[in-house]
Amino acid sequence: MFDIFLSNSLTKKKEIFYPLNKDSVKMYACGPTVYERPHMGNARAAVVYDVLFRLLKHFYKNVIYVRNITDVDDKIINAAKSQNITIDDLTTQIMQFYHQDITEINCLPPSVEPKATTHIKQMIEMIEQLIKLNHAYVVQGHVLFNVNSHSSYGELANRSLDEMIAGARIEVAPFKKNPADFVLWKPCSAEDYNYDFESPWGRGRPGWHIECSAMSFACFGSDFDIHGGGADLMFPHHENELAQSKCANSGSSFARYWVHNGFLTVNGEKMSKSLGNFKTVREVIDSGFIGSVIRYFCLTVHYRKPLDLNDKALEDANKAMKKISAVVNRTKGKVVKECKEIINFLADDMNTPAVLAHLHKLTSKSQQGDEEAHMQLLWSLDLLGLEVMTKEVIHNYIIKIAQERLQAKREKNWKSADRLRMQIMERGYKILDTGDSYELEKIS
Ligand SMILES: [Zn+2]
Repeated sequence: MFDIFLSNSLTKKKEIFYPLNKDSVKMYACGPTVYERPHMGNARAAVVYDVLFRLLKHFYKNVIYVRNITDVDDKIINAAKSQNITIDDLTTQIMQFYHQDITEINCLPPSVEPKATTHIKQMIEMIEQLIKLNHAYVVQGHVLFNVNSHSSYGELANRSLDEMIAGARIEVAPFKKNPADFVLWKPCSAEDYNYDFESPWGRGRPGWHIECSAMSFACFGSDFDIHGGGADLMFPHHENELAQSKCANSGSSFARYWVHNGFLTVNGEKMSKSLGNFKTVREVIDSGFIGSVIRYFCLTVHYRKPLDLNDKALEDANKAMKKISAVVNRTKGKVVKECKEIINFLADDMNTPAVLAHLHKLTSKSQQGDEEAHMQLLWSLDLLGLEVMTKEVIHNYIIKIAQERLQAKREKNWKSADRLRMQIMERGYKILDTGDSYELEKIS
């Protein structure tokens, strides 16, 4: 028998995880809003739920992991407008970037990846149900959720209504019955890039929160096991999801375990564009850290705590992965063996710092010729999705940069092409241009 422990934000306790159905697990994590290339905070969240997905898969035959794509949002409209491209072009491009960058840090694809734009019908149905049950009201083309209609509103964020109103940026509108009432549907104006949908309340768009409620309902029905997301989503996003889903489906508990990952800071400060410390996953990869190193870095701190991105932390992760890789590459054995300690640490609310410490123990033992430890090391690396740096991995990485450089050259983006050439050189290769192609030569 085994137990997985998870810190549940809803009960504020570390609890033993019991799925609704003993053979299968249903997990939903809020995915990206596709308006800009994924940043390191997105990477952290993706890695946390990917590790949880892998852990659950180890114990359960059937694990359904849903990670949505938010492709209806004001930020998307603004980004498309400022770049003078269509919404479709923007969201398609960013979705591709997201998949590319997240795959590079070895995250498995989720079982289902629903898009908000293909679930408008389900959102409208849920909103209609909320109106029918007196949990929502229509005013000036808007449909608003009435927080006073739901006595346990605030149960997740664990704050009173007044505190929540004071602490969050809540849109003030004179037609709201309570300032905390939130939008389920809103009308759109001509400036909104014609990005609207037909509804019983006129043309408009759904609010962000109802998107996740409708998508999780479409995938799982009214009740499921785990809901994940960044700590910054707890209020108002998750609180509102929980309220509207419970109200629309009477008797439902919605998600039973709420897992929240901590913030990512950069050199001790909050990551933000205005501070100029915004880091995309691609930038970190381009600065010379392969996906496994980024992944290792994400695991160095417990998922609920803040994680600080800085040069030293990345360099330390790089050194650690190099050390593990050197031992794995030197030893021929390919046979793997399950490592109970790693599983126990992971099952203890994903204690990844302890996992990594044990990984280093196995590495040292393996270096000293301990075959058992070597087999366990290989197994653990595979479970954690930490790909070692073999010659092939490095080679593939260089080819990829060279391809990107060729593309940059074709687009006459000389600055980017130069930067990529430097990166190839830093890894011991010279790039020779041959017309519209290139050759790579090892620098001796
Ligand atoms: Zn969400």
